[in-house]
Amino acid sequence: MTAGALVWFRRDLRDFDHAALAAALRAAALAEHDCAAAPGQLAVSAAAPPAPSLPTLAEPGFRPTDLRLPAGMSGGARLFDEFLARIGRYRATRDFPALAGTSGLSPHLRFGTVSIRRLAAAAHVESLLPHGAGAAAWLGELIWREFYQMILWHRPDVAEHCCRREYDALAWDEAPELFAAWRAGRTGYPLVDAAQRQLLRTGWMHNRLCMVSASFLVKDLGIDWRLGERHFADRLLDYDLAANNGGWQWAASTGCDAQPYFRIFNPVTQAEKFDPQGRFIRRYVPELAEVPDRFIHAPWKMPSPPAGYPPPCVDHAQARERTLRRFAAARGA
Ligand SMILES: Cc1cc2nc3c(=O)[nH]c(=O)nc-3n(C[C@H](O)[C@H](O)[C@H](O)COP(=O)(O)OP(=O)(O)OC[C@H]3O[C@@H](n4cnc5c(N)ncnc54)[C@H](O)[C@@H]3O)c2cc1C
Repeated sequence: MTAGALVWFRRDLRDFDHAALAAALRAAALAEHDCAAAPGQLAVSAAAPPAPSLPTLAEPGFRPTDLRLPAGMSGGARLFDEFLARIGRYRATRDFPALAGTSGLSPHLRFGTVSIRRLAAAAHVESLLPHGAGAAAWLGELIWREFYQMILWHRPDVAEHCCRREYDALAWDEAPELFAAWRAGRTGYPLVDAAQRQLLRTGWMHNRLCMVSASFLVKDLGIDWRLGERHFADRLLDYDLAANNGGWQWAASTGCDAQPYFRIFNPVTQAEKFDPQGRFIRRYVPELAEVPDRFIHAPWKMPSPPAGYPPPCVDHAQARERTLRRFAAARGA
């Protein structure tokens, strides 16, 4: 990603947050003001201060990422054109993180560099054509976005509370070490770790992985969904309060139209299904690059597990039972 692209897509580039940037922008505005000439006058005021030197991107806290994303409105239009050529395959490929199955347009939607109306109109037209099932499925995803915005508009309390208020009684675990392992992508569950490292490295996470990783935090580690929501808010380039809150409450089963509380993703079977040869896992978890296919989703079962990769931080079957008890207690409360 180029430096210019970073400026466009970094969600927290707000001049009032960054003293160095704010000072440079104020100086630039002043210089522009001093240079404004009345008709017939010389264009440069004698009192004009020297041109300010812009801060480096590192000064306000930007770090390079791996994300390759065409930036600005032209970039958004290009990405959409490219996606239209493969929209017919969307339904079949969208759940496989190793493939370029989704549009990657979420940062553009978040920053308004593509028009939701244009996307929805084009998807609708495509969906009416023969082989329009992919476009229809994609239109359905755009509608999820609108749905969560509608929820937030009518229920602003969801920003702090469970949408289903009875679940505010859920007793979450305090587990700072497990939370740190999840954030760093060192839980010992390869797909969860690859997902978290994708987020750290690129500022984006594939939707299937958002679901798996969020479910793991809440239902395997027993950690309050609000902590995961905050971490995503801090890291995602496409961060959007409504979609993020909706996604987290969906995964935690506390939301409106969420998955039922007893539906608990198994991080191993999800990996077997959606990354069967571990191509995505190997891309983001180099410690597992040489692991044979049959062990890639559960490397702890190898006679000698790879050095440097942690064993599972929790037992999934036991964690599942704890979660069922946690929800039963809240529902009975
Ligand atoms: C726990 C969790 C947190 C999430 N946080 C965010 C977030 O902060 N910002 C965000 O834009 N999306 C979020 N999502 C939704 C989804 O993961 C991303 O929109 C998707 O990964 C973006 O990739 P894409 O543009 O290639 O999607 P595509 O599959 O190409 O979908 C097109 C567009 O539809 C919308 N969309 C797709 N899926 C969803 C969904 N489940 N909910 C709402 N809108 C959707 C997005 O605007 C997306 O760009 C979250 C999902 C979960 C489960």
